[in-house]
Amino acid sequence: MRAEIIAVGTELLLGQIVNTNAQFLSQRLAELGIDVYFQTVVGDNEERLRQAIAIAESRADLVLFTGGLGPTMDDLTRDALAAHLGVGIEMHEPSLAKIEAMFAGREPSLIEINRRQAMLVGGASPLRNDAGLAVGSALTAGGTHYMLLPGPPREMKPMFLNDGAAWLKEKLGDAASLHSAMLRFCGIGESALEELYKDLIEAQSDPTLATYAKEGEVALRVSTKAATAEEAQARLAPTLQEIRRRGERYLYAESDVALEAEVIRLLAEQRRTISCAESCTGGLIATLLTTVPGSADAFLGGVVSYSNPVKRDLLGVDEALLEGEGAPGAVSEETARAMAEGVRQATDTDLALSVTGVAGPASSEGKPVGLVYVGIAERGKPVRVEKLQLQGDREGIRIRAAKRALYMAWLRLTGKD
Ligand code: ATP
Ligand code: MG
Repeated sequence: MRAEIIAVGTELLLGQIVNTNAQFLSQRLAELGIDVYFQTVVGDNEERLRQAIAIAESRADLVLFTGGLGPTMDDLTRDALAAHLGVGIEMHEPSLAKIEAMFAGREPSLIEINRRQAMLVGGASPLRNDAGLAVGSALTAGGTHYMLLPGPPREMKPMFLNDGAAWLKEKLGDAASLHSAMLRFCGIGESALEELYKDLIEAQSDPTLATYAKEGEVALRVSTKAATAEEAQARLAPTLQEIRRRGERYLYAESDVALEAEVIRLLAEQRRTISCAESCTGGLIATLLTTVPGSADAFLGGVVSYSNPVKRDLLGVDEALLEGEGAPGAVSEETARAMAEGVRQATDTDLALSVTGVAGPASSEGKPVGLVYVGIAERGKPVRVEKLQLQGDREGIRIRAAKRALYMAWLRLTGKD
């Protein structure tokens, strides 16, 4: 099935908003195994919208619209498609009832204007809108499938995920659809990961592999087209096996889960606790860990020791390490070690992480931007410190440093360090 996405809206053409709807839909359609060949943007103009529909119909099996389903005169998507297909517009009574209930007791003219949002192109099935009033719709006419979705992303996304995707799956029937596994890696960059799986990626036969980089983490999607989930699993299995074997030190999850969530899960499973002492990451590790629901049993707390006096007074870092002639300084292996052990003792946790470094933009203590020391302390064991030279701007360095610290915790918790 070849698809075209038509985003309707003059705001898009003027550059006032970004076409995130097309991005979202392209990603979801790829997951369904539908090839998107074109993305079109057209303004709120019926004539040009009809031209765009005619072109799309000539080259796609599925045309998806976003925008122009609202109540006002510049919301033209329904009218343009109905005119193109030579059909009328019908009132969808349940949606009208919802609108009438919504405006009950207010000005009658409001109901009049908003009635438009309950209209469907003749013959279309409604797609439920849980977040707004405009009813979406889907229909097949002249051998082409059409789907009309509202413009606001908070209405469009749930509508597509709930009713829209189900409608498409039914149309796809038994035809082979895309099945994929999403593998998540930490402690390795995108290019190093590509190098690790070079032969598999270059073959690009079946299954296909694609990497996606996020700050400090990389994901690898392994996909195959198959009629059933069982068939897909059988075809993916040998490749997944090989990926696991080679990536043992980096592969932390085979589902959509963040590294910090995996660390919390392991801590909870092992009934262990963690704390952190952060300098250049300014509390980012604590933020990431506490984003995970249920982190309270595992993460006891942390110290943002941004200045030397706080490192000294709250963490017990020796003054002689921090300042003075020949001192290693705040950004050093020795200080990272003292911070990790200091916070571990202060909070009485099983594990503790520390970060100290130069996030930039200017160098500090004569040390280069991106130089970061990350430490991990564990009750009854010597502190381990890693020296990193990270790339990126200030924010990028901070995120990578925080993820690296979490990676060290993951290695420790899985017995891989
Ligand atoms: P409404 O009932 O709000 O008028 P609508 O279905 O008519 O909805 P539009 O009028 O085209 O949709 O757009 C409404 C808002 O939705 C825009 O102001 C914009 O914020 C957002 N929006 C529209 N199209 C897109 C798009 N392609 N990508 C991201 N956001 C969009
Ligand atoms: Mg509108």
